[in-house]
Amino acid sequence: MSTQAGSEVKVFLRTRPTANFAENLIEYVDGQTVNVHQKKDSRKGVVNNQLNSWSFRLDGVLHDVSQEEVYARVGRGVVLGAVEGYNGTVMCFGQTGAGKTYTITGASGSYQERGIIPRAIQEVFHEVDQRSTHTFRVQLSYLEIYNESLVDLLASLRGCPGAGPGPGGMAVVEEACGGVSIRGLSLHLVHSEEEALNLLFEGEMNRIIGTHALNKNSSRSHCIFTVHIESHSRTLSEAKYVTSKLNLVDLAGSERLGKIEPEGQMLKEAMYINKSLSFLEQAILALADRRRDHIPFRQSKLTHALKDSLGGNCNTVLVANIYGEAAHVEETLSTLRFASRMKRVQTDPIINQHTDPVLQVRKLQKEIQLLKQELSLHDTMANRMETSYETLSEAQVAEVQSQVQRFLEGSLDEINIESIRQIQEVFRQFKQALELQEQKVKAQLCQNYTLVEKDQSTADSSAAKPQSPSGTVGKVEGRRFGVGVAAPSERHIRSQSPGRTKTLRTKDLTRQGRKDAEVEPLNPILRENEHDPNSLDPQKPQRIDSPPPKADAFEDFKAEQGSEINRILKENKVVLLECRARLRELTEGVNTTKREIDSTSTTLRQWKDRQQSQGQFISADGVPVLDEAELSLVLRLRDLKTHYRQQYEELHCIKAEVNYCQHLVDQCRTRLLTEFESWYNESFLLPEEVQALLRSGGTIRPGLVPVDKALSLEEDEQEHFERRRYELLADSPSATIFYSAHNRTVKRVGQHTHICTPISPNIMTTDR
Ligand code: ADP
Ligand code: MG
Repeated sequence: MSTQAGSEVKVFLRTRPTANFAENLIEYVDGQTVNVHQKKDSRKGVVNNQLNSWSFRLDGVLHDVSQEEVYARVGRGVVLGAVEGYNGTVMCFGQTGAGKTYTITGASGSYQERGIIPRAIQEVFHEVDQRSTHTFRVQLSYLEIYNESLVDLLASLRGCPGAGPGPGGMAVVEEACGGVSIRGLSLHLVHSEEEALNLLFEGEMNRIIGTHALNKNSSRSHCIFTVHIESHSRTLSEAKYVTSKLNLVDLAGSERLGKIEPEGQMLKEAMYINKSLSFLEQAILALADRRRDHIPFRQSKLTHALKDSLGGNCNTVLVANIYGEAAHVEETLSTLRFASRMKRVQTDPIINQHTDPVLQVRKLQKEIQLLKQELSLHDTMANRMETSYETLSEAQVAEVQSQVQRFLEGSLDEINIESIRQIQEVFRQFKQALELQEQKVKAQLCQNYTLVEKDQSTADSSAAKPQSPSGTVGKVEGRRFGVGVAAPSERHIRSQSPGRTKTLRTKDLTRQGRKDAEVEPLNPILRENEHDPNSLDPQKPQRIDSPPPKADAFEDFKAEQGSEINRILKENKVVLLECRARLRELTEGVNTTKREIDSTSTTLRQWKDRQQSQGQFISADGVPVLDEAELSLVLRLRDLKTHYRQQYEELHCIKAEVNYCQHLVDQCRTRLLTEFESWYNESFLLPEEVQALLRSGGTIRPGLVPVDKALSLEEDEQEHFERRRYELLADSPSATIFYSAHNRTVKRVGQHTHICTPISPNIMTTDR
């Protein structure tokens, strides 16, 4: 594979040949490192021999190197990647005259000195000829960006798709797949190297003509020559195909303002170039920062047009072109800084794969045909003669419907399985039958009852509800605890018959309504419920007695029998709250320290980044020099980390304490609730027989003796319980509670009820 997955943008340095190479200022080491020494205060003209030194590590230094070798090291990998389906970009960056155009296009008229573009074209067509398994479609475009406007350098050629700027002019457009294209830029289909080269020269010519016409300098614009490649497999059924773009970019001269004082047109050009190059740099910095999810591509035409080819999922190579003379060392330094920033961009190239919808459908149809043949072969072998795999006809659907109906009525024992389509139809018919049945039931219920939405009926229903002895059941149940409250979707049904006005829950009445209206049983569960002795019968008078509301009882319990455990619970809660407050305080402290660590680390990283991009500062004997500010940052970070560790340990301890206190509180709460539950059940909810037994001196240990067992106690067992009673009194507080509750019951309750609603855990929330 010609591409390197998950690597960085490749960056090369190329020097323009010169007889006056500043050997004392530019030093090439090991073919990859360049050290630049700059005289201190050289701009102010102070003559001294002191030097500032910077070191940059790149992917390769191309010094005194032929065009052939430059192509081999810089271009070939990206070009081959593009033939495979990876987008690729080769960019030349640097000061005007440093050799960008020479590198990308080459010296016009010299075959030996041709640049990357003609060599890339040659290689693409060579590869296309080699790969007999695929058909290729190669198209070219040549775009110039001058002062933020887009110019089609091949617009002079007519009769090509996409040509002409159209009503909206040329523009960069984002595509659905995440790529970009240039609306109005002409694309030219080429079949051979020669055709492609003709287009390149035509574009070059137009660039020069445009330069003269607009009186502009050719190095004041960016030029993007793009080879668009599409490859399809020659296998007819293969619906997948790949596309790629190979961008060969000659950037405008990067020299900064200030060196010469430009005016008018030159000033405008310089401003546009400065802006677009600095946006290019911003986009690159954002691409280098993996944490950033927004890359500001749209700030300039250049970055927008290169959005899918700058970094990320494509192969990108940068050539930094420099002069070798001492006079340009400052610009050289700035070019190298840009290059080393570019080198930090990570790339993860991916193939641009697409699916041809027409071919895909054709392929699937063929597969279906093949599977049908396979199925019929299986049927023949298994002696199944009449299986059809087509969509069911109307007559077949009607037959399935009738089978399902007979099956539901009972006149058909089973439905034979024939095919997947038939099974699906059977399910559909069952669903229909069910829906029909539901509608019938609803209609019949509506005839007998008025359906009222729950919230509308609340007022009436509370009036109609049986009153408890204390007269507060409805309020307490509904508002404070939610015990016995219908779900919002549940409806209340009121009987229309006069004198039988009653509010009952739908669940109960569905059954009743069904009985009255003689609706067929819906399912076996409902049938069973009909024999439930507790089921509602409108003819029978409903129970009107009920125990006191649990909330009230709980308050009483806490004030009396449960007072001790309630007091402990409250105390524990106070301790828990204190611990939590300390935990909160400590957590805040730890977080503050963590934030300080983060910000110090960030400052330190930024410091290092800056150093990296400006080159490592080295002493005269080549040893890296540590800055004072950097040292103080490192020390501060170390102190902060020590402090953080101490705080963290303390936090750990207090967390354990909070957990322990929470555990104690939970234990108390559970005990309070359990004891209340037992007390409540046995005070108000035990059957009368058990109460009588208790009145006569019998003992029941809460939660241990089942009620029916208590009812059938023999004489000797009663004696045994009598004995246990005193033991219990002696050793268990719940036994005390139990007996006092019993006495209370005798006083308070005349009748008993079987309704037992567990106390909601919410009960504690008022107490928290
Ligand atoms: P740029 O495009 O960066 O402004 P050019 O590519 O136009 O610079 O180069 C300026 C001049 O220097 C051209 O005449 C070019 O032929 C020459 N030149 C640049 N680099 C080289 C090189 N490596 N070998 C020979 N000549 C070069
Ligand atoms: Mg140029």
